[in-house]
Amino acid sequence: MRKYGAGGIFNVRRLLLVICCSALNFYFLNNFADAQSIQLSVDLSDAARNIYHAQLTIPVNPGPVTLVYPQWIPGNHRPSGPIANLTGLVMKAGGKTLAWDRDPVDMYAFHVDVPAGANELQVTLDDITSSGSAGASGGAASANVLDLNWNQVVLYPQGANSDDVQVIPSVLLPAGWKFGTALPLSNLADGMDEKHPDLKRFKQVSLTTLVDSPLIAGNHYRRIELTSAIDGPVHVMDLVSESDAALALTPQDLAAYKKLVAEAGALFGARHYTQYHFLYTLSDEVGGHGLEHHESNDSASGERTLIDADEHLTEAGLLPHEFVHSWNGKYRRPAGLATRNFQDPMVGDLLWVYEGLTEYLGDVLTARSGLWSPEQYREGLAETAAMLDHRAGRSWRPLEDTARSVQILRLGGPGWSSWRRGLDYYSEGELIWLEVDATIRQQTKGKKSLNDFCRSFHGGQSGPPKVVPYTFEELVKALNDVARYDWATLLQERLGSTAAHAPLGGIERGGWKLVYDDKPNIFVHAEDELGKRISLQYSLGVVLKDSGEFQDVIPGSPAYLAGIGPGMKLVAINGRQWSKSLLRDAIRAAKGNDQPIDVLVENAKFFKTYSISYHEGEKNPHLERSDAPDILGEILKPLTK
Ligand SMILES: [Zn+2]
Repeated sequence: MRKYGAGGIFNVRRLLLVICCSALNFYFLNNFADAQSIQLSVDLSDAARNIYHAQLTIPVNPGPVTLVYPQWIPGNHRPSGPIANLTGLVMKAGGKTLAWDRDPVDMYAFHVDVPAGANELQVTLDDITSSGSAGASGGAASANVLDLNWNQVVLYPQGANSDDVQVIPSVLLPAGWKFGTALPLSNLADGMDEKHPDLKRFKQVSLTTLVDSPLIAGNHYRRIELTSAIDGPVHVMDLVSESDAALALTPQDLAAYKKLVAEAGALFGARHYTQYHFLYTLSDEVGGHGLEHHESNDSASGERTLIDADEHLTEAGLLPHEFVHSWNGKYRRPAGLATRNFQDPMVGDLLWVYEGLTEYLGDVLTARSGLWSPEQYREGLAETAAMLDHRAGRSWRPLEDTARSVQILRLGGPGWSSWRRGLDYYSEGELIWLEVDATIRQQTKGKKSLNDFCRSFHGGQSGPPKVVPYTFEELVKALNDVARYDWATLLQERLGSTAAHAPLGGIERGGWKLVYDDKPNIFVHAEDELGKRISLQYSLGVVLKDSGEFQDVIPGSPAYLAGIGPGMKLVAINGRQWSKSLLRDAIRAAKGNDQPIDVLVENAKFFKTYSISYHEGEKNPHLERSDAPDILGEILKPLTK
């Protein structure tokens, strides 16, 4: 057993890094047997109790060994590996239980001494899946569905390149459950064991591919082939849900998802996968995430997404977004995110491309495929633009800092979110890429567009997954190859700006303008219904929960100037117990006169009356045509028939 002081382990780790960089064989140095595979068996039969059980057989040589649990999870862009959920860890060799020792500094590393004569380590571990699993904002399993991200159940040799670690995985499913994954079964006879119908064995893959190939399963399952293998890579939707009723994909949606596959192919001109699975979990228990992979996406939304109009509207862009990532994010990846393994830190500076361009293209493809009408697309864009145009934190935090801060931005609650800023590299990235697209179309008089950039930057040769990293300079060069322009200056200005207002140049060049009126925005309305809240950001400057609690108050807004802050609770309006309709009535009644809206507010069990001076009525964002040509309309036109 080894014990380190903080300084000692730091030096050892640095030494290992230097050795790996000099291309010596780390297996030899770290006592791992070369050229053998890790066997990984995962028992998922306890999923309903939110615990997975794993057994690993890891080839080793005698002597000190360090195993690590994946920390930096691709697509999360941050050290989100759910280490607190790793439990039941036992290591054995030659039939004897070994004492392991967690590293005193690196919580993800475990040291153990392998006794003489032993050539493999038997490791058992459990993963608690009720919260904090990578890729899932909630839990990873329920009574009816489960979502397995393999990084939750694996240890691997410290210092290894994840491409070089080979794993032979298998799973035991809950009895009778069906599954979907892009991971290839070992072969028909082996993978589908007739004696053990719930045991599934898979082919040997690299650890990189394993972590990139999640598995979903459920007792309500539907498989839909969107394309057959005859036309190129097969595209499959694997749906699991809490009920059969929730699997009722409409014929219109089926046609739209088929068109999505065709439109993405036309946009990029190549596919960097041999098959593609849309792994889609419909569950209120496990819902609320989307994680991209080369050959699949692991997405989850509310149980009734396919059959409820509001949920359908707000979630229609989910699968297109994650699908675009196969090209933008997985194949072409910012150099700072293309790391060697799951322990090397990531740099998020180019996330306004990784996520921002994906948000732009994903939403455009949602419209081109027919999952949204052009009108629905514009309402979504209006909501995004208005939110960013009222982001108080723009004055201190430039967009590029939201990308660099990806590791910490999910840690804050909703209070003061306008002042803190959130993951704005998604939404503001979308505005910037719309501006780039509209500018290319203007500069080239409609001859070129961002479609040409996508073909050259993300297209190339079709084939199995690979990663081609890029830098800011390479991105700018690729844009200049499509249309000459001072892209570097434009992008740097957008990224470094602390101006009060959002970059709306793309909307304006696109032939539209952002306006406000008292007609509800369809997205704001649907999100308020689903989120049990009322959004009044553009009038009073608040978001209010149905309980009356102020979720956020925008600095500089009428409510803020009156003295109200997040976390306080609305009790009464103009002397009467508050309700949503009373609040809207009060806003309408104060329009055009000088009477303040008096509100009684509770703050940590004390009550106080505040006077809000606001007289401009309800304000909801929409896009309205300007006199300029309708470039946005051109952008939304499908590329295929
Ligand atoms: Zn994304």
